[in-house]
Amino acid sequence: MGRKIKVEVVPDLKAEDGEAVYGLAHWGEGWIKLRAGMEETALMHSFYHEIQHLVFEAIGRTRLSRNEELVDSLGGLWMQAIQTQKGNLFPRKKKIEDN
Ligand SMILES: [Zn+2]
Repeated sequence: MGRKIKVEVVPDLKAEDGEAVYGLAHWGEGWIKLRAGMEETALMHSFYHEIQHLVFEAIGRTRLSRNEELVDSLGGLWMQAIQTQKGNLFPRKKKIEDN
């Protein structure tokens, strides 16, 4: 918790095996990389997908993190929930004025 993750959009993103991928995430090193050139919705979906990988890693559920179908479904649902919410769920607290 409270950890910073570096997010980069990079051209020609490839996995270690050389396969072209839309995104990669590494919990130990604290980064997410996304492939440059995707349209905005695909880029955002990839971002939430990679975040979901890191969430599973963060809570020690590595096996779930390897389940790409689950990760993709949950990432897509987070994206939908956040993008379709209306109003300000977390308004800034007003400063407490001195009496
Ligand atoms: Zn994935």
